[in-house]
Amino acid sequence: MSHCGSLLVVDDNEPHRDALSRWLRQRGFDVVVAADGMEALALAAASTFDLVLLDVEMPGLSGLEVLTRIRRTHSQTQLPVIMVTARTQGADIVQAFNLGANDYVTKPIDFPVALARITTHLSHKRAVESLRESEERYALAMRGANDGLWDWNLATNEVYWSSRWKAMLGFEETEIGSSPDEWFSRVHHDDLARVRDGVAAHLVNGSGHYESEHRILHRDGTFRWVLCRGAATRNDAQMATRLAGSLTDITETKVADALTGLPNRLLFDDLLDRAIKRPARRPGYLFALLVLGLDRFKAVNHSLGLLTADRLLIEVARRLQATLRSTDALTRAEHGFTLARLGGDEFTVLLDDIADVSDAMRVAERLRSALERPFDVDGQEVFTSASVGIAVSTTGYQRPEQILQDAAIALHRAKAEGASHCELFDSAMRDRAICRLELETDLRRAIEHRSFQIHYQPIVSLSTGEIAGFEALMRWRHPQRGPISPAEFIPIAEDTGMILQIGRLTLTESCRQMAAWQRRFGAAAPASVSVNVSSKQFADAGLAAQIEAILEQTGLSPASLKLEITESAFLGDVTGAQVTLRHLQSMGVEWSLDDFGTGYSSLSYLQRLHVDTVKIDRSFVSRIGLEVNGSEMVGAIVALSHNLGMDVVAEGVETIEQVVQLQTLGCEYAQGFYFARAVDAATAGGLIASQPWRGRHQPAA
Ligand code: C2E
Ligand code: CA
Ligand code: CA
Repeated sequence: MSHCGSLLVVDDNEPHRDALSRWLRQRGFDVVVAADGMEALALAAASTFDLVLLDVEMPGLSGLEVLTRIRRTHSQTQLPVIMVTARTQGADIVQAFNLGANDYVTKPIDFPVALARITTHLSHKRAVESLRESEERYALAMRGANDGLWDWNLATNEVYWSSRWKAMLGFEETEIGSSPDEWFSRVHHDDLARVRDGVAAHLVNGSGHYESEHRILHRDGTFRWVLCRGAATRNDAQMATRLAGSLTDITETKVADALTGLPNRLLFDDLLDRAIKRPARRPGYLFALLVLGLDRFKAVNHSLGLLTADRLLIEVARRLQATLRSTDALTRAEHGFTLARLGGDEFTVLLDDIADVSDAMRVAERLRSALERPFDVDGQEVFTSASVGIAVSTTGYQRPEQILQDAAIALHRAKAEGASHCELFDSAMRDRAICRLELETDLRRAIEHRSFQIHYQPIVSLSTGEIAGFEALMRWRHPQRGPISPAEFIPIAEDTGMILQIGRLTLTESCRQMAAWQRRFGAAAPASVSVNVSSKQFADAGLAAQIEAILEQTGLSPASLKLEITESAFLGDVTGAQVTLRHLQSMGVEWSLDDFGTGYSSLSYLQRLHVDTVKIDRSFVSRIGLEVNGSEMVGAIVALSHNLGMDVVAEGVETIEQVVQLQTLGCEYAQGFYFARAVDAATAGGLIASQPWRGRHQPAA
């Protein structure tokens, strides 16, 4: 493009046309000529001119008609038009101005005068344009002094990049050209198609703003995350002529964890991805991924409060970082380590380029034991512990999420081993994980087909030997695998939310059964049926209403229903839990605290929650008769519960010694294999009728 401007000269008279255009070319203009109105319009639509010289009198389309059509798509500032007319045609001149001509010259053309007018209009047009551009740039600049600015002239395909834009990518003012490729060629391969498509879509039919977050290559070889915003300027025909906008570096918010400042999941995935792609170039290359989770963090969160728990996480991050630095010598890791926070209480470490698996094990063990020392959190001494799952690249991973998943499986396994453990992933673990997935599908099907049964385990009065109640326990007979323990499928049901449906089935069926026994046995029926309520159900706002409806539907009186709940249900929202508890108690339903003694801070809960019954966990009962002083703990719990006005059920009673001891300690009820396993409803009915333990083992008077 010429620096003077590009002109369209429209004249049907060939000698005139040639003389004028030659003269203008000599003065540095780009000149395109048109011999009639149609040609002029076609040229004006196809390319961008800075100005048109338009003959008024032409055969076919007159100059005035051409002017009218040009003004439909181009404003006076976008495309100035100077009419060329005979001195005598005063009326035409007036009409031309009305139709949007910018100026006129008369024939025969006085070339220097024409040149003066042309230059005036061109400089005016440029002044208006640059004013608008600078206004827009200014407005953009106001958005943030730290943003880079860019302004893409679509007609010339040139882009103005502000110095800040260049600096953000590590370049000096003079180092970047004006091609759009300066942008596109630096966009991360995985983001490029999305960015291009977004721009194209905005240009064609976009209203509002173009906006995208993508990675862009910095001069130093790293990718920065940027937020790119822009908007098109359109001509009267709604065609985009410019696209201008800003660029903001959002790398920090994108890749750093806000709490600990460690790399976050996104950045970590990137690094992991690189590690995974490396072995192709280097045989024998090995890396390991550790996923570390704090044990019982939920409980910590609950007892310390969110703020303190956050401070603890920060301290944990620091200690892990420091430990990793000091373990450098432990491994021959060539590329060192990267510590990141995955979210919540989970951290992850990439150990790059290690010599063998034992390196990873050693580091994991170091990290685990480093967290056993107490933390000083706001002057408070806090204890925590961690479990670690390890996955090593020998397994041949293709994508970051695969190795992360395996390490997570190993972590899960480590936690199941009883916390504060390190576990190395092996394929048997993956098989188990797959097995679990299958079980999930089968469980869903079982709910649809209602293929569960409920078995009933008697709860026996230790003073009379009569059956005081039954605990309803879910049974699932898997079509291929046979009976599956609730200890296996209830956790899956909880994780997936299926427990809500299962819980409703159990409640309905147990209440129905209990009502049937009451009709059949009258006063000889047991006092209540106990149904387990999972934490998920307990947290469900509709629980009370659901139970009310079930009681109504089955005709069971609320006093004949007991609900069993473990302490974990109260983690988090104790006040809310108390409300639910009270609400159902006010209806007459009673509550048992299940598995008492296994939880986190049992005694404080016991005082705050006012349940009706405490069930002492089997792990305490089983010590009776096995250990010296094996009954002390049970004795303490019984005494405490009685002080708080609660009665006690001992779980897992298996021997006559335990029965006798429990009687001596004043425990009201017992449940366990000594009396009976959970049995089907018909067998349970038989037990009610025969009362096999009535009057046996009477407590010593
Ligand atoms: P839980 O509530 O602690 O139930 C008692 C478990 O201990 C039952 O196992 C029972 O069979 C077992 N048990 C009873 N007496 C003895 C004994 O003397 N010795 C031994 N070794 N074990 C004894 P089960 O039926 O396998 O249930 C396991 C857990 O599954 C239950 O523990 C409960 O937490 C859960 N569960 C079972 N049914 C349901 C249900 O319908 N809903 C919910 N939410 N959870 C359920
Ligand atoms: Ca229970
Ligand atoms: Ca229990």
